[in-house]
Amino acid sequence: MVETRADILIVGAGIAGAATAYHLQRSGRFSVLIVEKEETAGGHSTGRNAALIREHVENPRLQELTTESAEFLRTGELASYDRSGLIALGLGDEDLSKYVPICQGKGLWYPKDGVLDVSGLLQSYLAGQEVRYRTEVTAWRHVGRELHVSTNRGEIVCDVLVNAAGPWAGRLGNLPLTPKNRHIFVTAPLDWVDQRWPFVWDALNEYYFRPESGGLLLCPCDETPAEPGAYTEDPARLEELADKIMTHQPGLGDLPIMRSWVGQRTFAQDDDFVIGFDPRDEHVFHVAALGGHGITASYAVGRLAAELIADPAADRTNPFSPKRML
Ligand SMILES: Cc1cc2nc3c(=O)[nH]c(=O)nc-3n(C[C@H](O)[C@H](O)[C@H](O)COP(=O)(O)OP(=O)(O)OC[C@H]3O[C@@H](n4cnc5c(N)ncnc54)[C@H](O)[C@@H]3O)c2cc1C
Repeated sequence: MVETRADILIVGAGIAGAATAYHLQRSGRFSVLIVEKEETAGGHSTGRNAALIREHVENPRLQELTTESAEFLRTGELASYDRSGLIALGLGDEDLSKYVPICQGKGLWYPKDGVLDVSGLLQSYLAGQEVRYRTEVTAWRHVGRELHVSTNRGEIVCDVLVNAAGPWAGRLGNLPLTPKNRHIFVTAPLDWVDQRWPFVWDALNEYYFRPESGGLLLCPCDETPAEPGAYTEDPARLEELADKIMTHQPGLGDLPIMRSWVGQRTFAQDDDFVIGFDPRDEHVFHVAALGGHGITASYAVGRLAAELIADPAADRTNPFSPKRML
């Protein structure tokens, strides 16, 4: 029995699905329904990241999207933004101790980068959207010019299914994508940490840290391929972090780690985003493989996805099309 119909059915209430829904809703052209398998939005990659808005990235195609998006997110219109800056060690000549007195190294200073309230951004994107929680898409079939989508809570009929399933996007959309585990560690409050310190990213030795909850948030920049949702913590990653800090930032000393978690960054083989119609099925659209830039780029990713869904002919010149990998 058919229970529900929507023009566009978005699978996943993470930042990719939410930003796409936000722009589709603003266009006013489609009815949109989001389905999310969990009880709440943002419980996977979107709720497990470092919340950095980093405009400058290595890949020029991604940079267009991160610049557009960061410029908008910095206005604070959708979520509060702390313009604390970023120093990228190893990429320039600025003395780090100028910004973080007990640390050492030289780097490139990005004054406009900073930390965003990710949960606030997600809620802003989702405001006014219809979201069905505890609803997992399991399959779909074509009936005439429509898709009949099976979920654990009945069938939904749509014209276009948007695969914004984060770490599950490869499995759901039959795409060669790889989720990679990354650990984050947070210390107890530390009275010598100035909460105005910038984000410090060591681009050569691969670790980063920034102020968090009175202490520090740190990451060893690990990337271990894993099954979607397999968040088992690996004790070796804490040792890796301790080694990197002892070698490169001994001034931070012995850090009292209070909590930690694992999140997944999902990549295509070429590390580019995957945004566009599936060349095998004109009813399926992917917004996936946002890697380590999904929060920063979200506003522009959602804008691009909504434009391509509204005008499929534009997909012919879209550099993020999944055509490149199929
Ligand atoms: C440790 C770490 C640090 C990071 N730091 C940053 C950073 O500082 N700045 C930055 O810009 N980015 C950062 N990222 C990257 C960023 O978090 C991701 O790019 C982004 O969150 C991906 O969002 P998403 O919506 O694609 O995936 P998700 O947030 O995982 O959302 C996918 C959703 O789809 C749902 N879903 C899956 N399958 C189904 C199904 N069959 N039916 C229904 N629902 C389904 C899931 O439950 C999930 O809620 C970091 C990531 C990690 C792990």
